[in-house]
Amino acid sequence: MSVLAQLLAAVAGGSVEVVDLTAPLSERTPVLRLPEPFANTVPFSLREISRYDDRGPAWYWNDIVTGEHVGTHFDAPVHWATGRDGEDVSQVPSRRLVAPAVVLDASARAAADPDFLLEIDHVRDWEREHGALPDGGWLLYRTGWDARSGDQDSFLNADDTGPHTPGISAECARWLAEETPLIGLGTETVGTDAGAAHGFDPPFPCHSFFLGAGKYGLTQLQNLARLPARGAVLLASPLPIVGGSGSPARVLALVER
Ligand code: MN
Repeated sequence: MSVLAQLLAAVAGGSVEVVDLTAPLSERTPVLRLPEPFANTVPFSLREISRYDDRGPAWYWNDIVTGEHVGTHFDAPVHWATGRDGEDVSQVPSRRLVAPAVVLDASARAAADPDFLLEIDHVRDWEREHGALPDGGWLLYRTGWDARSGDQDSFLNADDTGPHTPGISAECARWLAEETPLIGLGTETVGTDAGAAHGFDPPFPCHSFFLGAGKYGLTQLQNLARLPARGAVLLASPLPIVGGSGSPARVLALVER
């Protein structure tokens, strides 16, 4: 049997599970809120064109209204000033959208401290247990934050000092982006950076270092608890928006059972 025939047989037989890492898109999908004076994205919404009525008697369809960075989405290098000469989302090579993925689980730490930051030593500890970070692969950073994704306030977890959501320290972000063979970083939170990352040096270090290195981001992932620490294959499918800085994406993982 060919490799692809074996894959199809495994999917049909259940020995390879397809795990959907994508949050449902609706008007209730949480979106990032930047403080004044910064501009903000629109949320997702549907605008009905016709629904089996005199606007279109036999068909139902909608226009969609969305930002590029709404819901589960892909960050392309041009999203950040450090990556401004890099790829827009339509220029990401398709072969880079199929890649190995590993999962680092910090959900217990994030439950105890919503401002928890991953440090290089935490990744080194993970590597001692699970092996090296994958060449050309994704680091999926599990924090348990997907459990909050149905509610904007709980998901953003903001108070008068700003949002409090887990992330990665500036030092660790620089190391991951510049000194490991990863292709990108995936998170469960509204962006790849910690809620407090506006105050880091540099601000928003995951965006700054990963996109500046020509790498990618995936955010608002869910179901990472259903993936093994290593061994999953991730398929990311942002829309090829010409000139786009990112796109809502369907993100699937193939997992051997
Ligand atoms: Mn984004």
